[in-house]
Parts: sequence; structure tokens; C-alpha cells
Amino acid sequence: MNCPICKSGNMAAGHTSMTFERANATVVVKSVPANVCDNCGEAFVAEEIARKVHDVVEAEFKRGVEVEVIHYAA
Ligand SMILES: [Zn+2]
Repeated sequence: MNCPICKSGNMAAGHTSMTFERANATVVVKSVPANVCDNCGEAFVAEEIARKVHDVVEAEFKRGVEVEVIHYAA
């Protein structure tokens, strides 16, 4: 599959980090499984995984964290 952003790179299975900010809070999720372009580095996260990440991040925001770095757990 070719990268939809740069059109020339190839997508390969890898990992990425996602950062979420809300008001004064920042949550970073590392090791999120993604398809990463070997040319421009753009990462694409599957919808199902993105939804899981969103749920985890939402829970962190509800806990009232200011800055939190977590690792994605399948
Ligand atoms: Zn690309």
C-alpha cells in the first residue's frame, strides 16, 4: 500500500505516539500500533485502535492528570 500523503512511500507496520491536549492537561500515548510511511513518516492508526486510545485518554483526563505518558496496551 502506498502512502496517501506523499504517494511514494510504503506503509509498514510500526508504532507511533499520539498526543492529546485538553485545557491544562496533556496525555501522551506511546507504542500505539500503526502503519508508518517509510518515506515521510506519517503514521496511520486503525480506527479500532484509535477508539481504544481515546477511551484510555478520556479516563486519564477524568482522573485530573496534568501530564501523563502512558503506553498502549493491546
Ligand atoms: Zn508518506
